[in-house]
Amino acid sequence: MAEVDVCVIDDEQDQRRLAARLLTEAGFSVAEAGDVAAGLAVIAVHHPKIVLSDYHLPDGSGADLCRRLRADPHGVAVHFVLMTASGKQDSLVEAIIPEADDYLPKPLDKQSLLARVRVGLRMQRMHEQLHTAAITDGLTGLHNHDFLTRVLEQEMARSRRYGHPLALIMVDIDHFKVVNDTFGHLVGNAVLQEVARVLRQAVRDVDTVGRFGGEEFAVILPEATCAEAAHVAERMRRAVADSIDVKALRGHTVTASFGLADANDTRVTNTAQLLDLADRALYLAKRRGRNQVSSCYEVDEQAEVAATLQTDEIESLRRRVAMLSTRAKDVYVQSIASLVQALDEKDPYTARHCANVAFYAERVAHALGCSTGTIQSIKNAALLHDIGKVGIPDRILLKRTALSPVERMVMGQVPLIGTRIVDHLRILEAEVQIIRHQREHYDGTGQPAGLQGDQIPIGSRILLVVDAFDAMTTDRVYRARRPIEDALTELRDLAGRQFDPRAVAALTSALHDERPVWQLRIDESVNLLRLPDRALADHAATSRL
Ligand code: GH3
Ligand code: MG
Ligand code: MG
Repeated sequence: MAEVDVCVIDDEQDQRRLAARLLTEAGFSVAEAGDVAAGLAVIAVHHPKIVLSDYHLPDGSGADLCRRLRADPHGVAVHFVLMTASGKQDSLVEAIIPEADDYLPKPLDKQSLLARVRVGLRMQRMHEQLHTAAITDGLTGLHNHDFLTRVLEQEMARSRRYGHPLALIMVDIDHFKVVNDTFGHLVGNAVLQEVARVLRQAVRDVDTVGRFGGEEFAVILPEATCAEAAHVAERMRRAVADSIDVKALRGHTVTASFGLADANDTRVTNTAQLLDLADRALYLAKRRGRNQVSSCYEVDEQAEVAATLQTDEIESLRRRVAMLSTRAKDVYVQSIASLVQALDEKDPYTARHCANVAFYAERVAHALGCSTGTIQSIKNAALLHDIGKVGIPDRILLKRTALSPVERMVMGQVPLIGTRIVDHLRILEAEVQIIRHQREHYDGTGQPAGLQGDQIPIGSRILLVVDAFDAMTTDRVYRARRPIEDALTELRDLAGRQFDPRAVAALTSALHDERPVWQLRIDESVNLLRLPDRALADHAATSRL
């Protein structure tokens, strides 16, 4: 049904007809209704820009009608004018409600009626302009990130409710930095506008295309199966590669990579997961050489984990370790300390954490009656237990929000990377075993070997407990520290499952024997980690051992 300018709602036929005639003569399109129920029905069909309603209606008041409209997403923006009998002060006061936009006295006067309607239409236009501006990207004229997110939520809900297909395509321009660096930012902007134009032409009418941010675009395809979406993505890829026409580029070709995710993939239960999957498919397309489409079904977790690790950093540290002198164990410990210092640059928390873990581990090992040699190995292993973090990109290591499943798998590689860095050193044989098995659980559910109970090196069992204890009693960017008693309760709750009950008991008694010293250590960590990163790293480097 066609949209109308004004809907007039009044049960007094003469007044209603009069208003409709005056408005029609002035060139406005008009719909009419005689009560609240009919009014709501007419509004739902004709989407008027203005509603002109009498206050007293047979089945309710104009104020009720107005409130009901405001509660409906489509009625929120309607310009609502309440008509009230003039001269009756009571009815005017009664009629003034915050939900209405304007008031008009009855009997109607032609000039006032037309003036009010014109003002209303002007306000409506401004409202529409503001709304459009709020959901549009200024540079490309496409929908913006906010709008895309909202549409994606709606489409996801619909797809879940009715079991309909839904696909999402993420687009990222290839080597866009080169375009900016070679031709300048303005040419870069022109390319963005061209890509936007080409993408909009390549999608179907029902699809929503928008600028997701920077030089990334997203396309939401309701009712599209994975195969159909792949078809659209391939059409977009070809269109970008063939028809970006910006003179200043002087023949330099622009291409883009595409990642496609299917909302029916078993890994998807919400929009965040759908976005994550599309992103991973996009990065697969980048890794495979760009200017291509990849789908979520080609995404392979193991390969992603391997591709995320910073292989160069791991190899460089491994080489440095290999060059260390191995003549005496005490020289060695010093060397280990300087290796840990390499981590300070990356994550000051880790340096302090390793020092704490070494401190606690030594005491727990002592309480368990370990030999001096074993205690020393455990302490060394504790200092080195996180060295594998050199292989983890900062964006994961320093992330403030929850890790994605793949990111958790990447973090899970820390013990193995650590092992890889030091495993050729005969003199550290015991330490290597402790580091390798530091995430094994007492009940056999841990990684990487699924060892159980006493099969796990004692040093690893101690390390797991003190590692958790330090993590719980220190502030992290994503959560506040917990009191000592809470941490102990948590360790005891998990004793026999994650933790060796004897190691938990030993930690409890060691803490009991030296409570003020432990407390001081915890307070010191809290103060240290409040300092700016640089100062902290300096301090940690001098106070570690
Ligand atoms: P890749 O193929 O891996 O995507 O390489 P890339 O060079 O595109 O790398 P990346 O995605 O990291 O770089 C995006 C660049 O896009 C960096 C940023 O300067 C540029 N950019 C982001 N927004 C705008 C913009 O509005 N205008 C211009 N001209 N450049 C932008
Ligand atoms: Mg990018
Ligand atoms: Mg890019």
